[in-house]
Amino acid sequence: MSQHPDTDFLVGNVWEYDDVAERLDAYGKFSDRWDLGANPTCGGCSMSAACGKGCPAAVVAAGERIGAVDTEQCPVVPGQSRMLPVVGAS
Ligand code: SF4
Repeated sequence: MSQHPDTDFLVGNVWEYDDVAERLDAYGKFSDRWDLGANPTCGGCSMSAACGKGCPAAVVAAGERIGAVDTEQCPVVPGQSRMLPVVGAS
């Protein structure tokens, strides 16, 4: 389950709002809102200045908050297996 509410990333439903362009402009740049690599590991990493810090969507999908290490992409932190949630279907 995501630690972020959907309102962290959505500006509005295009079917409900006719000012989505303005809403997107008001949202601003992703990098201004979120600090990728805002964790002690990246902060102390010698590659931090050159590192893109992985994929924020993958970090969120793994149940972490944006800023956590993307363990699938990071060459420093040991990878952790990520399991998709099992959902029953009938
Ligand atoms: S290599 Fe890994 S620990 Fe280093 S800055 Fe990039 S994501 Fe962070």
